[in-house]
Formats: sequence, structure tokens, C-alpha cells
Amino acid sequence: MLEVRTQVAIIGAGPAGLLLGHLLSREGIDNVIFEHRSREYVEHRVRAGVIEYGIAELLSDAGVGERMRRDGLVHHGIELRFDRASHRVALSELAGGKSITVYGQQEVVKDLVAARLELGAPLYFEAEVTSLDGLTTDRPSLEVATSEGSMRVTSDFVAGCDGTFGVANRAIPENLVRRYERTYPFSWLGIIAQAPPATEELIYCRHENGFALYSMRSPEISRLYLGVRPEETLDEWPDERIWEELSLRLATDAVPEIGRGPILERGISALRSIVLEPMRYGRLFLAGDSAHIVPPTGAKGMNLALADVRALSRAFLARYQRGDEALLDVYSDTCLERVWRAEEFSTFMTQMLHPSYTDEFENGVQMARLRQVVTSEAAATVLARNYVNLCSV
Ligand SMILES: Cc1cc2nc3c(=O)[nH]c(=O)nc-3n(C[C@H](O)[C@H](O)[C@H](O)COP(=O)(O)OP(=O)(O)OC[C@H]3O[C@@H](n4cnc5c(N)ncnc54)[C@H](O)[C@@H]3O)c2cc1C
Repeated sequence: MLEVRTQVAIIGAGPAGLLLGHLLSREGIDNVIFEHRSREYVEHRVRAGVIEYGIAELLSDAGVGERMRRDGLVHHGIELRFDRASHRVALSELAGGKSITVYGQQEVVKDLVAARLELGAPLYFEAEVTSLDGLTTDRPSLEVATSEGSMRVTSDFVAGCDGTFGVANRAIPENLVRRYERTYPFSWLGIIAQAPPATEELIYCRHENGFALYSMRSPEISRLYLGVRPEETLDEWPDERIWEELSLRLATDAVPEIGRGPILERGISALRSIVLEPMRYGRLFLAGDSAHIVPPTGAKGMNLALADVRALSRAFLARYQRGDEALLDVYSDTCLERVWRAEEFSTFMTQMLHPSYTDEFENGVQMARLRQVVTSEAAATVLARNYVNLCSV
């Protein structure tokens, strides 16, 4: 068995693990990243696409924002659609001039992998962490399975950046972690289509048939979502039906049709909220989806993951440069305050935009919320500030 020794062992090469590794390596803190999947897989896994203002700054300051600044689409507003009418929320005007950047998560991952390889820092793909040990001692260890055999890794600390279904959060004894969970009564059917975007800004739409979202990845590629019932499968949604339903929900009196094109990818994901408290167990620190999940309606998943590792990297820096563990001690509380604010915002957006199929009272409340956001500057300002820069600190 190959023996590896490092200061920080990082599980997972998603946005959280990769940015953490990068921030640590830049400061001379030794770290190794283990990723279960192949490089090809993680660099092409299509997920989030909206980057908050402060998180875009974080990526730029870390020296991995060049392509994002060049190819990302900077947006200053979003549209809310309901009752066949469109209402613009002027994000930048309402949020102190700040904007969002539309840039795919897989592109962030590609930039971070390239930066890591350039630094020559160790990153193992197709290396699955199978167990964690000694987390409450000062020499935690991991077992890692690779196609070339097993590795035993000892470290000072372990960062669990391995998503909801990883091993890190399961290594915490059940009686020492509190799990908050909500599953919503709808899923999102997402497609990527070779179709020029219908508008320049993202469109969040509430229609009596369900939610729809029009977003884009480039001037040629659109990313669209339909809210569907949780039991529905892709087999029930042939291309023609997807486009008809998107057109029906997104139609306004002024623009009754949307542009169509070949569907390149499709998938269905359930909408869930999960928070684990605390995000630390001994020398194991959870970051990103391994500690929390938000429904994607608020576009917060990747932003939260990157904000976690900004806090964690600062805490490791204080520990290694000054022997000061105070930031490590408050890491969980610091992150959870932001996580709960993101859960609140994501729940607000989800509940405002997904009509209930059974509860007409709820539908009345939703319409009142939407009308308030598009008629009250105070309500629109709260939405804009949360959408643009919730993860700023
Ligand atoms: C289908 C889907 C669609 C989404 N769409 C959106 C969206 O539109 N907007 C939004 O804001 N958010 C979205 N999200 C959420 C967003 O993508 C996540 O919040 C983000 O990926 C979190 O990053 P992470 O680094 O914490 O975790 P991940 O990106 O999940 O990375 C974790 C990594 O750990 C690896 N791993 C797991 N177990 C092990 C192990 N045992 N050993 C080694 N490696 C392991 C995994 O292979 C993975 O690469 C979506 C999520 C999903 C699943």
C-alpha cells in the first residue's frame, strides 16, 4: 500500500475541493486532492451557471478568473414572468451597481484543474476515498482506492468536499450531527439546447402549469428548465413536448414563441434542502454540498461551496502561519449563518415561482409575492441583493 503524508487531505475535485486546494497551494500549505471520477467526467459535468459578484471577485483574486472574465456573460438584471407578462428586476441598480456572471460550473472546474496542474500540486483522479479514520486525533487518515492499488494518507486535517453522497459527512457519528432536510413536491427537468438565447437576461417564470427558467451558457447555447412532478421521468418528455411546454409557460403577449433547437443534454433533479450542523467533526471540515444543499431556484449551490472554502482556507492559513486555531473553531458557525440565509432565499424563490398543484390558497399567496416584488422597490431590492451578493462574506 502506498503511504502518503500531507498537511490537508482534500476529498473531491468539485468547485469546493479544487478552489480550496488552489488557495492552500498558493500559500505554500501542502495538500492532496482525491477525486473518485475521471478528469473528463468532472470537466464536463453540467450543473450551476450563475456566479455571484463577490464569488467572481474571489476567483479573479485567486488568479483563476481570466477565462470567466473573458467568456462569462455579465448580467445586470433578471426577468420575472407571470400572467403572460414580463417584469425586469434591475439587479445592478438595486444592488449597488453589482452584477452576476453567467459561466458554467464545468468551466470553473476546468480553470481550477488547469491552475492546479500548472502549480504541479497533486491531484488524483479515479481515486475513491473509501474510509476515514482517527478524525478526533491529530493524525487523521484516509484509505483511497485507485486502479493501481490502495493508498493510505495521513494528514493534519481532512476537508470533506465530496458532495452530498460522499464519504465525509457519513464519517460523523449520527448522534453528533443534526440533519435538517426538506424535499419539495417538484423536480426540475433541465436541457441544454443549441439555440440562441431568447433574451439577454435570465427569465424566471411562474405559470399555472409549473415553473420555467430560461438561462444561457453562450450566444449559441441555451439552458432551460421546466418544473415537473417528482414522479415524472425523462421517457414522458420527448423533445416536442419539452419545447411545447417551455413555449407555453414562457410565452408573453409581446413574445408568444421561443426559439427552438437540437437538445444536447437533459436530466431531471429533485429539489431539496439539506443542512448539516455542525460542519466540523474533530479534524474533519465539511465544505460545499457535503454539508448543505439548496434548491437551485436561488442559484446559490456553487456560490455557497466556494464561500465555504474561502473561509476554510483563511482558517488553515491562520493555523499554519501563526499557530492560531480561532478561525478553525468558528468555521462551522461562520458558514452556517450564510448557509441558512441562502436556504431562506432559495426557499423564498422556490415557493414564489412553483405553483402548487393542490393548494389554491398557496397559489394566491404566491401571486401576491410576485406582484409585490415587481411593484415594490423595497421588495425588489431584497431579492436583488440576495441574488447578486449573498455569499459576499
Ligand atoms: C444535477 C445538478 C444540477 C445542479 N444545478 C445547479 C444550478 O443550476 N445552480 C446552482 O447554483 N447549483 C446547482 N447545483 C448545485 C451545484 O452544482 C453544487 O452546489 C456544487 O457542485 C457544489 O460543489 P461541491 O464542490 O461542494 O460538490 P461537487 O461538485 O458535488 O463535487 C464533489 C466531488 O467529490 C467527488 N467524490 C464524491 N465521493 C467521493 C469519494 N468517496 N472519494 C473521492 N471523491 C469523491 C465527486 O465525484 C465530485 O466530483 C446542481 C447540482 C446537481 C447535482
